Amino acid sequence: MDTPSLIVPEKSVFLETFGCQMNESDSERLLGFLRDLGYTRVETPGDADLIILNTCSVRDKAEQKVYSALGRFKHLKEENPGLIIALCGCVAQQEGERLLQRVPYLDLVIGTSNIHRVGQLLEEAGLRNKRVAAISLSGIIDTDEYGSASRTNGLKAFVSIMRGCDNYCSYCIVPYTRGHEVSRDAADIIGEIRRLCLNGVREVMLLGQNVNSYRDKSAGINFVDLLRGVAEIDGIERIRFVTSHPRDLSPALIRLFGEEPKLCRHLHLPVQSGSDPVLQRMRRGYRVDEYLAKVTRLQDLYPDIALTTDIIVGFPGETEEDFERTLTLIRRVGFDNIFSFKYSPRPGTAAADYEPAVPMAEQKKRLAALQALQSKITIKRGRDLVGRVESVLVEGVSKLSGEELTGRTASNRVVNFAAPPEVQGRVIDVLITEAHEHSLRGTYKEWKAYAT
Ligand code: SF4
Repeated sequence: MDTPSLIVPEKSVFLETFGCQMNESDSERLLGFLRDLGYTRVETPGDADLIILNTCSVRDKAEQKVYSALGRFKHLKEENPGLIIALCGCVAQQEGERLLQRVPYLDLVIGTSNIHRVGQLLEEAGLRNKRVAAISLSGIIDTDEYGSASRTNGLKAFVSIMRGCDNYCSYCIVPYTRGHEVSRDAADIIGEIRRLCLNGVREVMLLGQNVNSYRDKSAGINFVDLLRGVAEIDGIERIRFVTSHPRDLSPALIRLFGEEPKLCRHLHLPVQSGSDPVLQRMRRGYRVDEYLAKVTRLQDLYPDIALTTDIIVGFPGETEEDFERTLTLIRRVGFDNIFSFKYSPRPGTAAADYEPAVPMAEQKKRLAALQALQSKITIKRGRDLVGRVESVLVEGVSKLSGEELTGRTASNRVVNFAAPPEVQGRVIDVLITEAHEHSLRGTYKEWKAYAT
């Protein structure tokens, strides 16, 4: 008797990701689940059986981009009614069923806690011809929600360790789109990182909206314990994490930067404003002096630590004086870099109704002044590295010059340098010789000394 052959039809997916690293990580998980269902990723929407937009709603501009991107696919659906178009991420979570009404050619809306259900949802859309919005927010994370991600960078990996946020900063949509804070089991996280390591990953970035409030309650493991556990994994050479809330930056975590060599001395610590009245209206839960006390402690203990931050300019009621205080804070800290944005009111958040709005022209002016200041500081911080030897994870060939290699310092700066190809994938020492705003240049003259 002939053995029946199982013919799995080839299927293809086009996936576009907007927004933050959490979304990138979710996209990797989506691609992992789809890979297991027989999907191959394609780069052209017209070649796909399934189109997914993984969306961001943190600012209005990001949200509008999603609607214009969706509009590009309307004609594809008309030409190919079998095409499935899906939206996931924060806009999906926020809008739910309304999206199906607003966009008649949209088949699936997949909320932020439902990514692992993509197979079942596709079946409903494809086989049963149903349009579905799955946006229930779950208060637990099942083991099988993670661990199947399809990652493209062989050396570095994002690993989500929690989702959601309980802080409800007055301007932020995240608690509404990602739900309450839920942490993954530490054992699952460690298991995932061990598997990544066996596949050649050397650097992990632990992700969470409020990563330093991580807690595996049943195992009694906090964020510092988890970092220590990750550091024990042979083969993992670098650990990073993002995003930290200043209030949850504990003395133990500050000490860990001195105790654990695998922990990169780079901390992204969003301050948002340098003015107490603004921080209070933002409901950030700390004052400027409290933020500065923690930063000063870090800088005193680790003069080489790189600090980066987020700033919102033009928050409702922000006066010129408030803004000047933000500039003062930026000068005082000397951040390596900042991510700065004009305030964008998000429907449903507390600050959406705050008055008075700062006029758009003023917001633009403040943003430009802030960025000009930071640009000078970033260049200066880079110049301070010239003449120093930095450890660099060599990621590959430089895009700027095919003859050079590229990598990142522990402080997360890009470095381009000449070196033999054999050092790719390794952490090596590079002498920094030049500093530009967005990258450094270095030499790796003595590579043989390190090759043994
Ligand atoms: S800490 Fe505040 S800004 Fe950050 S995700 Fe939570 S609510 Fe949003």
